Amino acid sequence: MFLKGKSAIVTGSTSGIGLALAKALAAEGAAVVINGFGDADAIEKERAGLAALSGAQALYDAADMTKPDEIEAMVRRAHDELGGPDIIINNAGIQHVAPVDQFPIDKWNAIIAINLTSAFHMMRAAVPFMRAKKWGRIISTASAHSKVASPNKSAYVAAKHGIDGLTQTVALETATDGITVNCISPGYVWTPLVENQIPDTMKARGLTREQVMNDVLLAAQPTKQFVTPEQVAAFAVFLCRDEAAQVTGANLSIDGGWTAA
Ligand code: NAD
Repeated sequence: MFLKGKSAIVTGSTSGIGLALAKALAAEGAAVVINGFGDADAIEKERAGLAALSGAQALYDAADMTKPDEIEAMVRRAHDELGGPDIIINNAGIQHVAPVDQFPIDKWNAIIAINLTSAFHMMRAAVPFMRAKKWGRIISTASAHSKVASPNKSAYVAAKHGIDGLTQTVALETATDGITVNCISPGYVWTPLVENQIPDTMKARGLTREQVMNDVLLAAQPTKQFVTPEQVAAFAVFLCRDEAAQVTGANLSIDGGWTAA
């Protein structure tokens, strides 16, 4: 339990990759703040499970990642109630699939706010607390789409490329402060986010569900297998170790070879 005494915020952790990240950090003893939308009873069950797993506190914070003041308040809460945050994981994300000339403006704005700008607000608020302790880990869940593009995903690809640039910039700014800043870029991970985009892709490309799974999603992934949330989480836990202190400013792929050149 090498994270005993440390605390972490994982944004968008009521589901999918974020929940796996929260569990993996709690399993190493970290107090965790989970965040995101969902059924109140289900969230409370996850929160209690995380506290039992870590033997430390676990909090739920409902901060909406489109609202800078709520993000800032969540970081301050992690400071006031848990003495952190020592680790932040910018993971909340949404997707919308449509050609650029039909892309709804409200969807563009929401994707940029949640998938990119919220990470800026998290970093802005957390870096001073990390600097004061001379230790910090900032990890963002980017995507293979931070390195390459796919049609019909203009907002998502723009936001994820933005995460790559933000990661590198803040890594340079914090390089002598004991803080590392990295992003992890998964290929297709089997979560509700992927499952939910299948109907839109079917519509946008005129394909069946099976064709979307095999010819669109896994077509890009040479291993022909989905990444698991637990594999992404294990990668993030490694970045929190002292052995990873020299890994900073990196965009680390876990994509079954998708972005291999
Ligand atoms: P998911 O839909 O299972 O989970 C998304 C989480 O974000 C949920 O907890 C949801 O409540 C939360 N969320 C959404 N809007 C929010 C808001 N305004 N404020 C706070 N929380 C909000 O998705 P996932 O697949 O686990 O995705 C997690 C991250 O991983 C995203 O950033 C996504 O882009 C990235 N990613 C996913 C895949 C994949 O194949 N699933 C691949 C690469 C990258």
